[in-house]
Amino acid sequence: MNVFQEFQQLNIEKKAFINGKYVEAVSGATFEKVLSYNGETILSGITRCEKEDIDIAVDAALDAYTSRIWCDKSPTVKKKVLLRLALLMEEHRRELALLDAYETGRAFRNYYEDSIPKAIDAVRYFAESVDKLYDSAVPARERDAAIIKRVSLGVVGLITPWNDPMVVTCWKLAPALLMGNSVVLKPAEQSSLSAIRLAGLAKEAGMPDGVFNVVPGYGEIAGEALALHPKVRGISFTGSCFVGKKILQYAGQSNMKRVTLECGGKGPYIVTDKCRNIKRAAQVLSENMFYNQGQICSAPSRVLIHQSVMNEFMDELKKESRRFIPGDTFDSENVVGCVVSKEQYEKVQHYIDDAKKNGNKVWQCDEKKVHPEHAFCIPPTIITNVNPLDPIAREEVFGPVVTVIPIKTTEEAVQIANESEYGLAGAVWSDDLNEAYMVSNAVEVGLMHINSYGNDDNSAPFGGVKQSGVGKDKSVYAFDDFSDKKTIWMHIEYPR
Ligand code: NAD
Repeated sequence: MNVFQEFQQLNIEKKAFINGKYVEAVSGATFEKVLSYNGETILSGITRCEKEDIDIAVDAALDAYTSRIWCDKSPTVKKKVLLRLALLMEEHRRELALLDAYETGRAFRNYYEDSIPKAIDAVRYFAESVDKLYDSAVPARERDAAIIKRVSLGVVGLITPWNDPMVVTCWKLAPALLMGNSVVLKPAEQSSLSAIRLAGLAKEAGMPDGVFNVVPGYGEIAGEALALHPKVRGISFTGSCFVGKKILQYAGQSNMKRVTLECGGKGPYIVTDKCRNIKRAAQVLSENMFYNQGQICSAPSRVLIHQSVMNEFMDELKKESRRFIPGDTFDSENVVGCVVSKEQYEKVQHYIDDAKKNGNKVWQCDEKKVHPEHAFCIPPTIITNVNPLDPIAREEVFGPVVTVIPIKTTEEAVQIANESEYGLAGAVWSDDLNEAYMVSNAVEVGLMHINSYGNDDNSAPFGGVKQSGVGKDKSVYAFDDFSDKKTIWMHIEYPR
């Protein structure tokens, strides 16, 4: 049986998950969409939640929260449930990978070998951390003492994107649940099936009804209703800057709920004339730029390279890019599938066409792999002859498109790197540690790599500065985004 036949054997659940049950929308509405892996197949029947469904899900989450059935459980008990969830995800790893591949067109192999294991690791990391966290106390004095304890927020909404559905979901879901909150998750309309399945697995793992709900639906209807909801105390969002700004507005218009945002990026990748391993720098760039067709928020899509090493780097990069030629989503040999949708394909293609019109030089890998006839695939694309102010060099393309800009000095590279509204992740390649450290301090991003990229693990906080976001996913700092601090001050009276 090949991978696609294996997918066809699945019994796919398409309904929302509210209060421990799979349910249809009150209106009976469902989605219909064309899948990108062949541009033809229509996926229909996924429940499309609207405002009234969000109200029902939030009420269920609030009832579960006020019953204290989950939030008062000890950290050790919560940990056990989440570890059971991780185990079930492991058992259903192929199924989760098949569902995400089918909906998003990204290669099954990439989901199975990389993305789903990362999501499982994230659940385990948070579960294993929660009973090692300490609360704190103020400096003790003779007749007073105070503890400062983490408390849950209440009902928390999670709004997630399609580019790495399970990883982003687990980065948020695990710390949100472990801090005692009840959760309503609104997955992206392009990738709902794995989230719907995850809810069933969580129930099987022992999650009480109402604590974890999944409400598939359109962003501007279901997402907006969730972010505006007066009973929701926190929203954790990953997606575009455009929608991130709306989420902040919704919080202001409603109840000043806590907002954390992981938004876009335009990662600077600085290679100085002190970098000796140009081949490795090109290899690491292509690995982080071209997998998943470049649909990666932290993609190092702006190379700023010393002019003396540019030619060598370009030759290596072109060679390396051949490892990431898009092919059939369900071919188990392929590591790269296609882009998520026709709309995304057209957006990326538009950037490439505009660059050509602008006089930028566009190189595209001309090798081809077999993929279904109408699949939306874009070959690795390298753009040179670029002014740092050109749209292609400043805006997030979210496709396999990298701009390479020669620089004369390292100071110039830092200046260009910082002339950006984004600040998610970046890198510097240099064998002079003083220089590398100086550049790492100066570049305005949340995560800086030296002579590497993307090999940070769950212990490293992930999140941007400037318009790349507010707050952190991953690491024990993520618990802060899903909890508040409460002080209990005690005065002790006793005779002297
Ligand atoms: P998007 O902003 O269009 O959608 C993200 C989510 O928001 C989806 O669930 C969508 O339904 C919902 N949404 C849309 N409009 C909404 C509204 N008015 N109110 C409430 N919710 C709404 O983003 P996308 O196209 O799905 O994802 C790509 C973007 O996500 C890129 O910009 C990428 O950089 C970013 N991203 C960032 C990170 C990170 O960690 N920083 C990770 C992955 C993706």
